[in-house]
Amino acid sequence: MKLTLFRITLLTLICCSVSISAFSNPNVAISDLKFSVLVTAESSGSLESFVVADGSWFTKRKLVHTAVLVTHPKGDFLFDSGIGQDFEEQMSVFSFFEQQLFKIENVHPAKEQLAQENYDLSKLFAIIPSHMHWDHASGLEDFIEVPVWLQKVSHDEALHGEPPGFILSQYDDSDLRWNYLDLTNSEYEGFSKTLDVFDDGSVVLVDLTGHTHGQLGMFLNLPSGERYFFIGDTTWSELGVIHNKPRPKFVDWMVGVDTDFELNSVVINQIHKLNIAKPNIVIVPAHDELVVASLPIFPTYSK
Ligand SMILES: [Zn+2]
Ligand SMILES: [Zn+2]
Repeated sequence: MKLTLFRITLLTLICCSVSISAFSNPNVAISDLKFSVLVTAESSGSLESFVVADGSWFTKRKLVHTAVLVTHPKGDFLFDSGIGQDFEEQMSVFSFFEQQLFKIENVHPAKEQLAQENYDLSKLFAIIPSHMHWDHASGLEDFIEVPVWLQKVSHDEALHGEPPGFILSQYDDSDLRWNYLDLTNSEYEGFSKTLDVFDDGSVVLVDLTGHTHGQLGMFLNLPSGERYFFIGDTTWSELGVIHNKPRPKFVDWMVGVDTDFELNSVVINQIHKLNIAKPNIVIVPAHDELVVASLPIFPTYSK
């Protein structure tokens, strides 16, 4: 039922110009929208100089792996799935070096956190991974009954992907239900490929291709007027946005993090400029533990 609603919404979006008014009118009525961040694991720690170009060699960072629960009157969805229940087996394909680099602790998968709070899983109509890297797709098969929505290019890249970026065992279950999002050419906050998920301006997905093919960013516009922009792995730290810096080149050489390093730098520059022009929008890199600490953490929700 909820899936049908979502499909109708998408069809409406594609066929009609209704959504355009939502995009262009900042005073559009926003439906009751809330979100809550599930911290599914922490990294064991790394120097900031490994996280962002020109980062400190003396500051230790403990990046987090997150999923974002978004609740809306038309249905709920997860943006990213975080680290899932089968993470140990999944990560066994990593080399010894990669296992040290990507070491995680305090694992608390989204499925278990939701169950602890008696969250009704039937309310979830979708999981929308920002992209299919292992630390975002690890929990997909924990929610085998929930359809996965992503851009086709993102799925295609993942199907041909290799470790350490991609771990095929995370999404090889034939019971997974794949659905493709068709983004429109309606400009939103400077981004050219976008999708107003509920056709009310509350949740807008934007294409952030660069880090991977078809990576998705997500704007949340709350009834309170608060605005958030989840940017996936475009940068790992808000320092990258503030200083317009990519990941360190040597990290890219070591593990090949970005599908297109140069294009991702263009995207960072765009978000950097948006951050200056509209400082009221909270920009959330998926792994920045300092930014995440300022957000409502499950089971707390935004107001
Ligand atoms: Zn990634
Ligand atoms: Zn990531």
